[in-house]
Amino acid sequence: MSHKKGQEQTLDAKKAEYNRPYLGDELIENEEFAAIFRQRAYAMRHDARELRAQGITLGPFLEIGAGNVQRSAMLMNEFGVDGVATEISFKSLKNAQHVYTLLDFESGPLLICCDAHHIPFLPNTFAFVFAYQTLHHFDDLRPIIAECHRVLARHGHFFFDEEPVDSWVRRMARGNRMLSHPPTRAQALAMKIGVEKLFWDDGEHERSQGITEARFDIDEWREFLRPFKVESVVVNRKLKLRSDLYKPALTAFLSSLTGGNIRGLCRKDNGRPVTQPFRERLMCVDCQSDGLMMQETYIVCPNCVRHYPIEDGIASMLPLEVAQYVAAPIN
Ligand SMILES: [Zn+2]
Repeated sequence: MSHKKGQEQTLDAKKAEYNRPYLGDELIENEEFAAIFRQRAYAMRHDARELRAQGITLGPFLEIGAGNVQRSAMLMNEFGVDGVATEISFKSLKNAQHVYTLLDFESGPLLICCDAHHIPFLPNTFAFVFAYQTLHHFDDLRPIIAECHRVLARHGHFFFDEEPVDSWVRRMARGNRMLSHPPTRAQALAMKIGVEKLFWDDGEHERSQGITEARFDIDEWREFLRPFKVESVVVNRKLKLRSDLYKPALTAFLSSLTGGNIRGLCRKDNGRPVTQPFRERLMCVDCQSDGLMMQETYIVCPNCVRHYPIEDGIASMLPLEVAQYVAAPIN
């Protein structure tokens, strides 16, 4: 399978994502899993407090790559905002119920199984769009960022937190070494102090499962984020290299050398403000019509009459071609 940049995520990669496993009760009973989801939810709480303190409006929100929904649910339950958790893996969304039990949450966001290349909402719908550890699962971020930008309302914010800014220094340090599963003793030690990405991991394990694992250099990030006004970007959690990406500065230069995780806050300055509840702004991903009607067990498009099923509280809104491909049995 080819992973050249500038290509769309392939249907096979979408299928691999769609079929991520259902954890069910194991999510609560397996202490290791439980700890991961608690930690992710608490990290969201920390970030949301910081964003709110900066005056950022956190809702209505849309999360892409919501995984098991711990972050969106945290926003709803502790920050009093409403929104949508989207994710291509249907089974991950099904895990949400167990996450709510684990974290003692009373309610959850609207759950939609969809493809981030085709977000099923009209333009100018959300005040806050965010993604954690998701954007590296696409070969090219331009169409994804364009969708996030489209569904954001005027003055809305896009927030992201991602591992991989790659660099020639990293590629040299890494050579062709891969992280083994289970990790060797040296790798386990490196993971403990957080440098395994520098010396081993370029995502080969996920790639071997058919999941897209891309690594972007800082000049690619600059290009990807162009639709937005970039308010702040921090590269490399350990070194905290603040950079506005576009002005030549020492920090930007250092970021391009060290690579590392990247988190950023961007603003949309055009478009229209939020005017309507997001539930009234669903859009058909096949014919781009509005006026979709949500019933108990399906959502229907008044124009092409496509019926999107709602099962286990999850609306499946993949484009027809993608829906058929990812749900077909794996051979
Ligand atoms: Zn339609």
